[in-house]
Amino acid sequence: MSEERSLNFIEEIVEGDIEAGKNDGRVLTRFPPEPNGYLHIGHAKAICLSFGLAQKYNGKTNLRFDDTNPAKEEVEYVDSIKEDVKWLGFEWANECYASDYFDKLYDFAVALIKQGLAYVDDSSAEEIAVQKGTPTEPGVANQYRSRSVDENLQLFADMKAGKYPDGAKVLRAKLDMASTNMHLRDPLMYRIKHTHHHRTGDTWCIYPMYDFAHGQSDAIEEITHSICTVEFIPHRPLYEWFIEKLSLFPSKQYEFARLNLNYTVMSKRKLLQLVEEGHVDGWDDPRMPTISGLRRRGYTPASIREFCERIGVAKRENMIDVGLLEFCIREDLNKTAWRRMAVLDPVKLVIDNYPEGKTEVFHGENNPEAEGGDGSREFPFGRELWIERDDFMEEPTKKYFRLGIGLMVRLKSAYIIKGESVVKDADGNITEIHCSYIPESQSGNDTSGINVKGTIHWVSAAHAKTAEVRLYDRLFQVEDPGNEDGDFKDYINPNSLHILPTVYVEPDLVNAKTGTPVQFMRKGYFTLDKNSTGDKLVFNRTVTLKDGWVKK
Ligand code: ATP
Ligand code: MG
Repeated sequence: MSEERSLNFIEEIVEGDIEAGKNDGRVLTRFPPEPNGYLHIGHAKAICLSFGLAQKYNGKTNLRFDDTNPAKEEVEYVDSIKEDVKWLGFEWANECYASDYFDKLYDFAVALIKQGLAYVDDSSAEEIAVQKGTPTEPGVANQYRSRSVDENLQLFADMKAGKYPDGAKVLRAKLDMASTNMHLRDPLMYRIKHTHHHRTGDTWCIYPMYDFAHGQSDAIEEITHSICTVEFIPHRPLYEWFIEKLSLFPSKQYEFARLNLNYTVMSKRKLLQLVEEGHVDGWDDPRMPTISGLRRRGYTPASIREFCERIGVAKRENMIDVGLLEFCIREDLNKTAWRRMAVLDPVKLVIDNYPEGKTEVFHGENNPEAEGGDGSREFPFGRELWIERDDFMEEPTKKYFRLGIGLMVRLKSAYIIKGESVVKDADGNITEIHCSYIPESQSGNDTSGINVKGTIHWVSAAHAKTAEVRLYDRLFQVEDPGNEDGDFKDYINPNSLHILPTVYVEPDLVNAKTGTPVQFMRKGYFTLDKNSTGDKLVFNRTVTLKDGWVKK
């Protein structure tokens, strides 16, 4: 957790309510995703806020699926949402579904009709839009607005009974066609949709609109603080109106600014396009801003919670730099990731004066940053090693402190070596570097008296395991692809995935598990991908060691 911080405005409201004895000091929040996609980092902010408030004030949180839009909703999404919320580290008190309230909502609608506060409208969607007016011109009432209560009751019952096709009629609240708030110009409450629902099957052919379902669901569950994003501010008077007219539990809505992150998109509709059109390898592609993508990329729940804590809760929207998210994962992995050596761009190094067939086994802490070092591992050393191609320079320049002909460098946790000669292929590419080693220079037991400036990593060629490594870059080339001219997909970064097919890693990495965080020394943080098999290790780069991003 970050240092002590002052209360955010929602915490202030909650503390005020508790002090005033409102709801007997009870706090019940809810997280209400629509199961029409996978959760993303923006949802994580909403989750941390609603669940975090409940945790802080001895309250509870319901997970409620806002499943009122049957065509777009799927069980796969419900399952993924539950998995992601749990993975983030939160437990819900009740698993609820707006669809469980369809009977109650229907009764509420009937009650409003009886009060003369709702009516059946036969107009088409286009007609309704025109009659609604504009922000500067009041709307106009049509002839259906004055239907009698009895006629409305009958027509609404007929809508429910399936007498009409999709779009033939709607139920509207009778509010104020001249309101300055467009949402109050007789908003829709129900529409006809002959569509199978993932939970209620074919029981219903009318479905409630968000505005009628959401607040009433809150009230049914007796939610005390219903927290949503600022685009719902204009919906709040309606939220309150329905609750008042129906004399329901007075849930209250509070709004906070949504999270916007640069170099990505966050609407589920757009993320779905990326998945369906094959721009990415599924919802959990490590380049996606989804929780499942971040998990596969190697992000930890703690790093995401820390990120949400650091961005804070405000009322005004802004754009958060993805660099902050990367900062949070680096901080966390520095404390937890195992240190290992891996050679990403290998070239063979032969130590001419090291006995052929000899193997030494060295030991190293799993993580020197962790208390107690987090245990240790063994790694073998031999006459032939792999080192990084760019850790060698045939004719080293003045400030080059790695390996060169005539130049000495330390092999990490092993010996000091000196470059002697190279072997090249017909095209002049170096295929082998030859060196000599100083036997008295062994790390931890160095009596050579030689000081070298550089240390490079390596793996023993005879023992190394081969891995595929996937390097990721931003998925988009511009900060706000959703706000550029044309299609957001025109701004996809064509180089967002770079695959290194042949990387050599320390042999003990065959024991890594999916999600195990590893620091490849000097190279970054990596994690084993779910596509890894016993024969073929696959690592995703979570993040580089330092922020190497240069704005283009
Ligand atoms: P999207 O626009 O990405 O499809 P949504 O708002 O339609 O998202 P819901 O499933 O309705 O998605 O959202 C569930 C909750 O998550 C809502 O309370 C919503 O306000 C919140 N939420 C969604 N996106 C963000 C975001 N970028 N930042 C913070 N909260 C968000
Ligand atoms: Mg939504």
